Amino acid sequence: MNYKSYTRHNFTELPQISNLSSEQIEAIRVVGNVLPFKSNNYVVEQLIDWNNIPDDPIFTLTFPRKEMLSKQHYDKVTNLLQSGADPRVVKNEINKIRLKLNPNPAGQESNIPLFEGEKLHGIQHKYRETVLFFPSQGQTCHAYCTFCFRWPQFTGMSELKFAMKEAALLHKYLLKHPKVSDVLFTGGDPLTANARILSAYTEPLLSKEFSHIQNIRVGSKSLAYWPYRFLTDKDADDLLFLFEKVSRAGKHLAFQAHFNHPDELMTDAVRRAIERIRNTGTQIRTQSPLLRNINDNPETWSKMWKEQVRLGLVPYYMFVARDTGSKAFF
Ligand code: SF4
Repeated sequence: MNYKSYTRHNFTELPQISNLSSEQIEAIRVVGNVLPFKSNNYVVEQLIDWNNIPDDPIFTLTFPRKEMLSKQHYDKVTNLLQSGADPRVVKNEINKIRLKLNPNPAGQESNIPLFEGEKLHGIQHKYRETVLFFPSQGQTCHAYCTFCFRWPQFTGMSELKFAMKEAALLHKYLLKHPKVSDVLFTGGDPLTANARILSAYTEPLLSKEFSHIQNIRVGSKSLAYWPYRFLTDKDADDLLFLFEKVSRAGKHLAFQAHFNHPDELMTDAVRRAIERIRNTGTQIRTQSPLLRNINDNPETWSKMWKEQVRLGLVPYYMFVARDTGSKAFF
């Protein structure tokens, strides 16, 4: 399958557009101007039940809905878009709304370390043993979750980006911190980066001088949003080979897979992708926040966890969603 994304600019090309009312289409435009919106052909064709709109959990997971903004903000953006105002004025006003949505929850800025007098944007060191690394090429996702707590990274509010390019700086930082045993690659979705880039970050960590790094974790939603990353993307085999190399070097590689609903586990593509990843010796652990309108009942969690265990995955984290973005809706 070739990847095709849908955003607020081209979603009217959706083959399923006739399943949406004019009010729902307007909501995608209005809310999609404030919060990031991206879905893709796999999500749209294989995960969403278009006979169950707007209540389908995966539709709610990736498509903006009117209730995701307060009435006051929704009306303000509608008026702005209809006013024909200068795009710079519109952008400015929309950024003011974004700043009211708590774009930097839980004081993430304070986790950015100072190293040799410089702030290392792209690293967060919030637990003694674990360093979070945000590869700059992985600061996007195959689709965007409407509840995302890192949404400002996708809206062009660049001062809020936690990203850096230099693998060298990460490696230098880790060499100076021998108490760190875990590195977590996160994003966005680090697996949107190609295998060559991921190797440049990861392979040096397999050498002797990094023997204190025992566990490498990769947080990713690719299994749920684009399992073809591990099946037919042109570097799918190279990526799996890299996973295998990490395990062979004696490091524990944990794939922190982000699944929010059992529907994400039911396609043939995701099951084949899970099998391929597990065959590399990688452990897949799962995580999700608890979300109203998506998974806020025990039956959904029970079904999701049972299916995950059956597929050889380890249910690992249940989160409380962060106080940001469309928090009132979720
Ligand atoms: S996969 Fe994670 S980072 Fe990407 S949009 Fe969803 S919650 Fe945000």
